[in-house]
Amino acid sequence: MIGAGVIGVTTAYHLARQGFQVLVLDEADVPAAMCSHANAGIIAVGHASSWAGPAAPRQMVRAFLGKEPSVMVSRFMDPDLWRWGLSFLRNCRAAAHRKHSDAMALLSRHGRSALQDLEREAGLIFDQAHDGVYYLYTCPTQFAARLQGDFGGDTGFTALDAPTLMQMDPALQTFDGRLQGGLISNVDSKGDCQKFTTSLANWLSDQGNVTFHFGCKVTGYDIRGATVHAVLTDTGRYACDHVVIAAGTATPKLTASFGVRPLIYPVKGYSATYPILDASHIPDRPFIDETSLLAVTRLGDRLRVTAIAEFAGHDKTITADRVAYLDRYVARYFSGAVDVAQAEHWAGLRPTTPSGRPYLGRLRKTANVWLNAGHGQLGWTMAVGAGEVLAAMIAGKPNSGAQVSETARWLTIP
Ligand SMILES: Cc1cc2nc3c(=O)[nH]c(=O)nc-3n(C[C@H](O)[C@H](O)[C@H](O)COP(=O)(O)OP(=O)(O)OC[C@H]3O[C@@H](n4cnc5c(N)ncnc54)[C@H](O)[C@@H]3O)c2cc1C
Repeated sequence: MIGAGVIGVTTAYHLARQGFQVLVLDEADVPAAMCSHANAGIIAVGHASSWAGPAAPRQMVRAFLGKEPSVMVSRFMDPDLWRWGLSFLRNCRAAAHRKHSDAMALLSRHGRSALQDLEREAGLIFDQAHDGVYYLYTCPTQFAARLQGDFGGDTGFTALDAPTLMQMDPALQTFDGRLQGGLISNVDSKGDCQKFTTSLANWLSDQGNVTFHFGCKVTGYDIRGATVHAVLTDTGRYACDHVVIAAGTATPKLTASFGVRPLIYPVKGYSATYPILDASHIPDRPFIDETSLLAVTRLGDRLRVTAIAEFAGHDKTITADRVAYLDRYVARYFSGAVDVAQAEHWAGLRPTTPSGRPYLGRLRKTANVWLNAGHGQLGWTMAVGAGEVLAAMIAGKPNSGAQVSETARWLTIP
């Protein structure tokens, strides 16, 4: 397994359940050091929808012009961005959007229920709760438009007006006068992705059939014919029967030896995590501010706020004005309840495919190289489900890969 982010570690868990001995290699010193480190922590089944949709081209044009506060393009002359962008545009038709969103929702629902099974089996504690998420609107037109869409029935959403929301959770009174209404979903959960990944890695190590080597960078492969016999690293050579690449945004670099370039673009996002001073003013459930496009999650005694999709290549710099945007939001709505001066700022690169669906399958030209990569804004949500699907493929068992994976001519989805 190449990669000890949330995708690599959950796939290792499922492979061990299928009876494999698993060696996980990661160039970082600890699990979840990259994109899985400080994300919003929302198991966002209710948000499982493709970014590529009929409204996206207009939004991208506005982003190019610098008119979108939450979507930015700061690396225009990037050939990888143009290649990715053309494919993204092809996926914006209404029918394609629906097809991809349905696939993402299926994998996300599966991910959430598999997470709860795993949590019970391993007794993992990661500031989790499974009682839903609020989707809030401060713009009346936006809220009215949302009410025309799908909710109720088996969508898991219930629409609520502002007074009911504030009665349900008095901490939402901080939006009094601005809040127009919102939805509550009962299909979402929350939890600290980094705590989860680290506890699962520790638990797997204790169980005995998964071994982790950190500080170990994969540099190449010993390829004979169509088969990889060993993975080459800066700390040695590791013989293997199968290789799984779950390296997030580094995946295209690691498949280059096989002549394959998956369309996975690093879409940068930012988070800020604040110590909570007064929990009575912090909403219990996470919420997504659909008007300002921020996610706010209480994780134990910390409040985490995340936002922004920035197309800046592999640059992970934490840009001051981007995180100031998060601090201003928190100072406006939660001043006194958190210690803004003690914020921990972070930036991560979402491994994003044009359709939003991850690549799950075997590289067609090889006998034993597998991909589990490209989960974009929903990696934490899909992780345990995607790991199960890929492990079943490798074990030759029935699986839902064909329904949920991104397709490509170089990918076999058994
Ligand atoms: C701001 C933000 C908020 C988000 N919020 C949410 C959310 O609320 N819910 C949700 O579902 N998702 C969310 N996401 C998305 C989610 O965090 C990612 O989809 C997920 O973490 C990707 O996991 P991964 O394991 O594929 O990648 P990573 O976590 O990046 O792991 C890849 C690993 O591969 C290793 N690696 C790379 N190259 C090599 C090499 N050559 N040799 C050895 N090791 C290598 C890296 O060190 C790394 O540990 C968010 C993302 C961001 C940025």
